[in-house]
Amino acid sequence: MKVNLRTTIPLLFSLVTAVSVLAAQVGREQEPFSFVQMCDTQLGMGGYEHDVATFKQAVKQINALPVDFVVICGDLVQKADDKSFADFNAIKATFTLPCYCAPGNHDVGNAPTSATLANYREKIGKDYYSVEHKGYTLVVANSQLWKSDVGAESAKHDAWFKKTLEEAKAKDSPALVVVHYPLFLKDIEEEEIYYNLPIEKRKEIFALCKENGVVAFLAGHTHKQISNEKDGILFVNGETTSKNFDKRPMGFRLWKVGGGNGLQHEFVKVEGFDAEPGAE
Ligand SMILES: [Zn+2]
Repeated sequence: MKVNLRTTIPLLFSLVTAVSVLAAQVGREQEPFSFVQMCDTQLGMGGYEHDVATFKQAVKQINALPVDFVVICGDLVQKADDKSFADFNAIKATFTLPCYCAPGNHDVGNAPTSATLANYREKIGKDYYSVEHKGYTLVVANSQLWKSDVGAESAKHDAWFKKTLEEAKAKDSPALVVVHYPLFLKDIEEEEIYYNLPIEKRKEIFALCKENGVVAFLAGHTHKQISNEKDGILFVNGETTSKNFDKRPMGFRLWKVGGGNGLQHEFVKVEGFDAEPGAE
């Protein structure tokens, strides 16, 4: 039999690639992990002392969970002043696991300025960055630079976001995006309001997420629990520890990744705090 090398070699290459992709997927499944999604600790929104107490209690409970890290989806504080950021940092420092924060509109402003960004970067740290964890890429972005066009800052952030997702895809690393603003609440075509991103920008981000293997898009800001799925991407806004507009109790989401079950998340209540009677 005459072997045609022109067709056989590429076929062998694609077989090897397919096997290594499969091996990578199986490898990921063999190493499942868990993490926590917190939203809007927002010290000062539900009453300063209340929010400090719920955040402290959440840290205590999270430290006792078998999780690898915690993410906070923005609005760390209600007022971005020195006291609030110092109190936030003091409580955050009591986590016994890594805590990755995204900035919210209360932290850097609805339309960030060089002054609000500098303040956040000095008091809290980087406002956008990525972290690799057990084959996954955590992409923590500054959604305020999407909500408002802040010239060079937004352009630089956009370029970073695209490059980071493309690099994750090249490594066959599924990405988890962590931000403050959700892309949309119910429908990607819905009108822009205070609680979602501008239509054009949200479509651009959604396309990038879809093209580059994003599996979940975690956000806060709504103070309402929302779960959507679109084209294989989970869009989840969790409960807060400050104030929930949907009468949900104070709490956070416990995520489980891999282990043959894909992505799962469940609610964990902050013990000792009920929803405010007046909450809508
Ligand atoms: Zn917000």
